[in-house]
Amino acid sequence: MSHYQSINPATGEVEQQFETLGDLEIEPILAEASHGYRLWRSAPLADRRVIIKRAAELCRERSESLASIVTAEMGKPIVQARGEVSIWASIFDYFADNAEKFLEDERLEIMGGGEAWVRTDSIGVLLGIMPWNFPYYQAARFIAPNLMLGNAIILKHAPNCPRSALAIAEILRDAGVPAGVYTNVFATNDQVATMLADDRIQGVSLTGSERAGSAVGEIAGRHMKKYVLELGGSDPFIVVDPADMKAAAQAAAIGRMTNAGQVCTASKRFIVVESAYDEFVRQFALAIEKYQPGDPLSESTVLGPLSTAVAVDELEGQVADAVEAGATILVAGGRVAGPGNFFKPTVLADVTPEMRAYSEELFGPVAVVYRVADLGEAVALANTSPFGLAASLFGTDDASLRAAAEDLDFGMVWINGISRSAPDLPFGGVKRSGVGRELSRYGMYEFANKKLVRIP
Ligand code: NAP
Repeated sequence: MSHYQSINPATGEVEQQFETLGDLEIEPILAEASHGYRLWRSAPLADRRVIIKRAAELCRERSESLASIVTAEMGKPIVQARGEVSIWASIFDYFADNAEKFLEDERLEIMGGGEAWVRTDSIGVLLGIMPWNFPYYQAARFIAPNLMLGNAIILKHAPNCPRSALAIAEILRDAGVPAGVYTNVFATNDQVATMLADDRIQGVSLTGSERAGSAVGEIAGRHMKKYVLELGGSDPFIVVDPADMKAAAQAAAIGRMTNAGQVCTASKRFIVVESAYDEFVRQFALAIEKYQPGDPLSESTVLGPLSTAVAVDELEGQVADAVEAGATILVAGGRVAGPGNFFKPTVLADVTPEMRAYSEELFGPVAVVYRVADLGEAVALANTSPFGLAASLFGTDDASLRAAAEDLDFGMVWINGISRSAPDLPFGGVKRSGVGRELSRYGMYEFANKKLVRIP
């Protein structure tokens, strides 16, 4: 059985299988990537810009077919899939349009006379390892800045979205990215380790689970390769005294249920100050009522199936573990009988530290609500998580919310809004949520050689 399979999460049917890379294919791929890199790095920036702009255009032209591939492979509702294609195109546009500015030399004010400046140069061929939850968007965050910088890429995508992986490679090829500069590989983890050890690879970027991040980070460290890890999250949504409780509850529902809850920056822990608790829970339960699982190809569906049958088992296990240990079910949902990986929204309360749901990431439509005395206690509870990706705060006292933003141990904090990614906003976490940043100017410097040139 092939490791790379396109299985429709709404039906459970295997739609297509792809052969895994042969071990003997690794050497020619590395050789071609190394050759492609040398040509690509010396191509004028303006030429790279034309190609990446064309790739953005092709994304838009092919939006409908690209969206339907993602929906068929990982179950994202078609409307959300189109949104993902659109953000992919905007990331390509953003880096194509801004690379020249981001890559300008930086003149240094130096002691002792003469001249000194810092160039931002490419470093070589990079490996990308990507997850299935946003097959296009995650890959675009890595591809666009690095191709504009002049790096070359070998990309191993998640085994359950091979058609999405091929669609990305096709767009880049059709836009004019030369052979060897971008290569899709259906590789095993052992083959990834072999490539990472090779001198022709200079770095690796992985988006995925904590487990995968630590495995790949360990190998990269052993071979002294630069790495970026974008990992899981258990993001807090802190409710103090929102000006509009209904709007806050609706934002909470969107934050938890988009992409069937399979978002690293989804709001997962709802930490509510005592005075707002009852009303928030009432409004939140109402807001999530409309998230009923449905056919992801239907225009009106807002909650599709989970990506795999294993994901349903995992989520069900986390809920059962909490309930057995005394958690209260506020909204009863769970697995939907029949074909497909459907799971109805579930809300838990009274979750305590010995339960898996307290510290693990819940990667599906399950919310946990906590009651706290005040904002200080909310921040302290939020910071107990081993993760530190994004946090949201809802309230009216601007000064105290800004102060709380300072105290939250997260890579991103949103005040009166839920976390949303945009090409010009830096994205990344602290603690077990990862290492490094993507998007914006910061995302362009992770795999750059900040080279000093000094003329005394
Ligand atoms: P995953 O199981 O960790 O897989 C992610 C990728 O890593 C896949 O391509 C996987 O391939 C690969 N991988 C796993 N172990 C590896 C190893 N030892 N060596 C090389 N590659 C390895 O994660 P997922 O289930 O696809 O994605 C969900 C997770 O990603 C969640 O935790 C989510 O929060 C996180 N995520 C984080 C961000 C962020 O930006 N912070 C964004 C999206 C998702 P194989 O399956 O072939 O092993």
